[in-house]
Formats: sequence, structure tokens, C-alpha cells
Amino acid sequence: MNNELLEKYALLLIKTGINIQKDQILVINSPIECAPFTRIVSKIAYIQGARDVVINWRDELSSKIKFMNAPEEIFLEYPDWQKDFYVSNARKGAAFLSISASDPELMKEVNPERMSNSHKAASTAIKEYRDRLMSNKNVWCVASIPTVSWAKKVFPDLAEDEATEKLWNSIFKTVRVDTPDPVASWETHKGNLKKSMDFLNSNNFKYLVYKNLLGTDLKIELPENHLWLGGSDYTPDGVEFIANMPTEEVFTLPKKDGVNGTVVSSKPLNYNGNLIENFSITFKQGKIVDFSAESGYDILKSIIDTDEGSHYLGEVALVPYDSPISNSNILFYNTLFDENASCHLAIGKAYPVCVKNGENLKDEELAAQGVNDSFVHEDFMVGTKDLQIIGITIEGKEIPIIENGNFAF
Ligand code: ZN
Ligand code: ZN
Repeated sequence: MNNELLEKYALLLIKTGINIQKDQILVINSPIECAPFTRIVSKIAYIQGARDVVINWRDELSSKIKFMNAPEEIFLEYPDWQKDFYVSNARKGAAFLSISASDPELMKEVNPERMSNSHKAASTAIKEYRDRLMSNKNVWCVASIPTVSWAKKVFPDLAEDEATEKLWNSIFKTVRVDTPDPVASWETHKGNLKKSMDFLNSNNFKYLVYKNLLGTDLKIELPENHLWLGGSDYTPDGVEFIANMPTEEVFTLPKKDGVNGTVVSSKPLNYNGNLIENFSITFKQGKIVDFSAESGYDILKSIIDTDEGSHYLGEVALVPYDSPISNSNILFYNTLFDENASCHLAIGKAYPVCVKNGENLKDEELAAQGVNDSFVHEDFMVGTKDLQIIGITIEGKEIPIIENGNFAF
């Protein structure tokens, strides 16, 4: 890949994504295959003022070896040194950049219970770190670059280098690196997302009603103090950042016990190297009471069975069917892209910042407002070309929000 584009992308991540501050620490979670790009990001971060760039290298093949061969009990533990790494850097005000790139089917043979135990042990141990990120106390950004195994899954008919090149170009398009001035393009994009947020916030909907021919028939209640967010986020000190690049969504949270009906997935979900396909979930008073999946049922079950909160929803997000990633007609098998091509929901933890003053509320106060808490937060796609979403205001007025997959306002 052409070096100029790579530098342009790295600069976009550091300036617009992370918005690095002078003397800030940057932590990068990076797959080892992405090292050449991560080194460029690291150099640019220093040039832009970072005090230290700490790279947490990950190797999914080594993780698989461990999942397949290590004794059961190791997945119930989380090492103190790793906890210290995340928590101490978070307390020092570090920014966290994660490069999301994985083989969508690598973990197919792994026992899902081992993965869910390991995920739970990690989430429990580094709760402080997770809470800080989910309430925007630390700046964070998730972005992607191709790996060969991922590119081959997205473009199976192409040779490895062609598939990788094509995935690079697709990613550059979604993050606007193909425009003359990506930083300026993002300013325009943020402005467009703000228009949707303003419409949704000014109507202060009490319910959203979803229907499509796939079989989705769902009514979602929104908490009284909910906020629709999208585009950029702000730390309590007012530092603007973009948590996901790309991002096309506007999102809020459902009232924990206010979801009723059935929702049917519209795209496969890649969960830690496993695919869950053609699934449906039924809710009663917020709680998942039934679910099915054509494939990956055990994985879906392990997500839902994680804890009490993973039986409830934590996010409601709207993305028009006619949007750049969706129009590319590429199934990325990576939630960062697929969720930004489709209306989606998330199982598990809600973002506290989706209720007014949420970042300053205690766990009990958030719960009282219907904000769900869980060790998981897993987005899944529900948007289709024929999706209809009607908003119902507190006064009972019905206003179309999504019609034939696109914004109706
Ligand atoms: Zn989302
Ligand atoms: Zn989400």
C-alpha cells in the first residue's frame, strides 16, 4: 500500500480519532500482522506531541493455541500485571487506540465456554478501565487495517495480495482517506450526523417500533432522559474524539425493561473469530426469553449467558440503508464496518453517556434510570432495505423515523 495514503490515514487516526494532546500517553492495541502500519501511527503520534506510545501486541494465532490447549482454570484468571497495564495507563489519562483486524472464523473449533470465561475474567478485572472508556473519561478509538486472513474471507475469489489491496481501498473509502483532506471531510460528516441527532433529540421519543419482512416486530421504550449521540464524543475536559472510525450511526440506549417483541438479524455477526448467522431474539419486558440461530447458536448462547445484563439490550443505533458502507455491498465480517452499514442493537452494557449527566452518576443511579450494565456489549445488525421504524412521542404522536431503510425526516 502506498506510503502517502498510510501516513494520511495514521494522521487522521491521531488527529481526528484520538485527538492526541501534548504529553499524553498513547496505548495502541495492535495485531502483530499490523506492525508496519502501527509503527507509522506511533511515529506520527510522537510528532503530534505524545509523551509515550505503548504498544500492546496481540497475536490471534497464539491466542488460539492457548484456547485449544491450556488447562480449563487458566480462563478463569486474569493476570495482575495486565490489569495494572490497562488501569494504570487509564488513570494517567492515556488515549487508547485499538486496531481491529481478525480472521472471522479462526476460533471456530474453540469451546465457546472457554472464550466466554476468559472474556468475563478480563472484563471483571479491568472494570475500572472499561467504565472509564465507556463514560468517555479516557479518549479511545477503534479502527481497522487489513490482515491477509481477514481480506481472504471478505474477497474469497481474489488472490491474497489482491484481496488485501481491495480491503485497504474499501477501508480508505469508509474512513474518507480517499478524499483530498480527510480531516476536513470528517468535519462535514460530523455536521450531517448532528442533524439526525438533533431531530431525534428534539422529538424525545418514548417508543421506537421496528417492523420488516424478515420478521422483526419489536417495540423499544427509551428512558426519559435519553440522549442520541453520534460522530464525536467529548471527555469531561472537553477533548473531542471519535470512538469508531468509520462511524455512520446515531445511537442511544433502550430502557432496560422496556423492550418487547422479536428482532431478526440482517447480517452475520463475527464474535471473537466465530460467526453467528441468521439469528432471532425475542424479548419480554426487556429480557431475552427466546433465541435461535441457523449457525453459531452456542456462541450466541454463551454471550447471552454471560451475566444478568447480557440478557438485556444496551444500545439502539440508526444507520440509513443508503449510506456509504452499506452501498459498497461488502460484507466485512467485522462489526466495526458491518454495524456502520446497518441499523443495529447491542446486547449488554449501555453507554452511561446516553442519559443526561450519565457520566457523573453512580451505578445504582444509572440502574434506576433503566441503564443496563453487563460485562458484554455486543452489537448486531438488524437493518434491511424494507425496515420501518416509527417513533412514538410522550404525547402519543407517531412520527416515521426510518422508511424503506432510510431516514424519513
Ligand atoms: Zn453502535
Ligand atoms: Zn455498540
